[in-house]
Amino acid sequence: MPIIVNQISSPLNASEQEVISAALKKLGSASKHAIDCEIHKSSLDARKRNDIHFVHSVFVTLDSADLEKKLCEKNTSLTYVERSVYKPVISTKKAEGKVVIAGFGPAGMFAGLALAEQGYRPIILERGSSMEKRTASVQKFWLTGELDTNCNVQFGEGGAGTFSDGKLTTRIKDPLCRYVLERFVDFGAPKEILTKAKPHIGTDNLRNIVTAIRKRIIELGGEVRFDTALTDLAIANGKVQTISAGDKNEKVSAVILAIGHSARDTFELLQCKNIFLEPKPFSVGARIEHKQAAVDESLYGDHAGNPLLPKGEYQLSWRDKNGRGVYTFCMCPGGTVVPSASESGGTVTNGMSEFARDGENANAAVVVAVTPDDFGHCPLDGVAFARSIEQKAYTLTGSYKGAGTTVGGFLDGKPEIAGTVSPTYALGCKATELRDVFPKFVTDMLEGGLQNFSRKMKCFGDKGAMLTAPETRTSSPVRITRNADMVSLSVENLYPCGEGAGYAGGIMSAAVDGLKAAMQIMARQAPCDK
Ligand code: FAD
Repeated sequence: MPIIVNQISSPLNASEQEVISAALKKLGSASKHAIDCEIHKSSLDARKRNDIHFVHSVFVTLDSADLEKKLCEKNTSLTYVERSVYKPVISTKKAEGKVVIAGFGPAGMFAGLALAEQGYRPIILERGSSMEKRTASVQKFWLTGELDTNCNVQFGEGGAGTFSDGKLTTRIKDPLCRYVLERFVDFGAPKEILTKAKPHIGTDNLRNIVTAIRKRIIELGGEVRFDTALTDLAIANGKVQTISAGDKNEKVSAVILAIGHSARDTFELLQCKNIFLEPKPFSVGARIEHKQAAVDESLYGDHAGNPLLPKGEYQLSWRDKNGRGVYTFCMCPGGTVVPSASESGGTVTNGMSEFARDGENANAAVVVAVTPDDFGHCPLDGVAFARSIEQKAYTLTGSYKGAGTTVGGFLDGKPEIAGTVSPTYALGCKATELRDVFPKFVTDMLEGGLQNFSRKMKCFGDKGAMLTAPETRTSSPVRITRNADMVSLSVENLYPCGEGAGYAGGIMSAAVDGLKAAMQIMARQAPCDK
């Protein structure tokens, strides 16, 4: 087992070897017992403009576990870690039928991969198309405004994050995160994601990785059925007995629901089947675009443009006197704002970047937290609230164009789109009064948030920055409630997981959640006979 040596500061141009040497120096005479060293994480400390530097932590494996433990007890800047954490327990209990997974986003993909690698041969249903066909559908929508409601930025191979920045940052502190990063690298992700404190893959890499994972699942005997939605569940004796998808009914031993936050018709199906659902808080707002150079200058001052510095990223938040929050979310340095609708007649925005993050603009969501007290306590009230905002925007612009305005135009109540930033939204923006799109409490919070952020970061004071709305698919408005064994409260072999079930937010946490659902199934039933 390695120990982690924390808090190794280095200049921007330090080599890997220099960082490792500094870590070994911290271990003093114990360093002669080191048999392996590797950078664990590197993050940028740009709090002081005259002292911008990296801070690293370094894995060091010693030749004696006892010595490692002893050192960690004495020195608080050292951490003792268990590195290998993915140890599924496999039951010997036979079950009739196969494991079916609905959804091939990060949750379904990692569940499917884990099950396939342990001999379960899962059947994966994905309502959208395979990557090549999906990419063509998305491009067509972005060019012409012709939306395929089953295959789009939310639906299709790889799930909602495929057309994204592929950020892998997460607030969960689960050791399985490391396993997920390692598997992404196995399937082609850049190795640097293992060591960056804020790793990202980029939409360009992610598309190839997702396809490689799918091919591996199929090689191992799993099935991936694209253009095939789960449309019905036959439940008897407290269990799902069969599922319907396409023109087939399938006898199942367990069902993993990894359907994402936009599967509104599937949420309705679950409600009809009396599966316990509850509304949950989420957030709504707009994407803000600045020039990336302005973001870099706000963060790095005179150092902006230094090629040793990463593209500037930020995260800002503010609460009003009642405790409601407005915050920036899912920042995409050097990225584009993307039309992300999945329902006819409703406009949705989001953001993505390529791995190089070399576009002219930076974008981030600026969103306001909303709760069932705002939109209603019935399970699908949050869905209805988000949909009404999406439909208002569509009606006001007359199309899937973004409901847009400069920040100044928004604050002054005179929407306009000629600012300092050219909007990147592929379908274009139409100048729109955002107060006609959102309820007043949302636009009041957006105003307050933008004013507060302008005091924290110079670029937020630019009245010519661009807002494109609405951003409504920030997280699931519904929770498919489950027990501690990850099983639905209503059906004993139904495993809701990932973002759509309300138990994850983002690619990494959805992947970890999917993996855990697969581990729960493995602990309860044996793999299929070969
Ligand atoms: P999803 O990825 O939503 O996958 C669910 C899948 O289920 C979909 O492919 C859908 O087609 C399918 N499905 C739905 N209903 C059915 C059904 N009835 N039958 C069969 N299949 C069904 N997160 C990050 O961490 N970093 C980012 O940089 C990032 N950027 C994003 C950019 C964009 C444009 C978007 C839209 C999202 C972004 N996210 C990002 C969020 C991230 O994509 C999600 O948190 C993550 O994909 C959730 O994973 P999931 O597997 O739970 O669900």
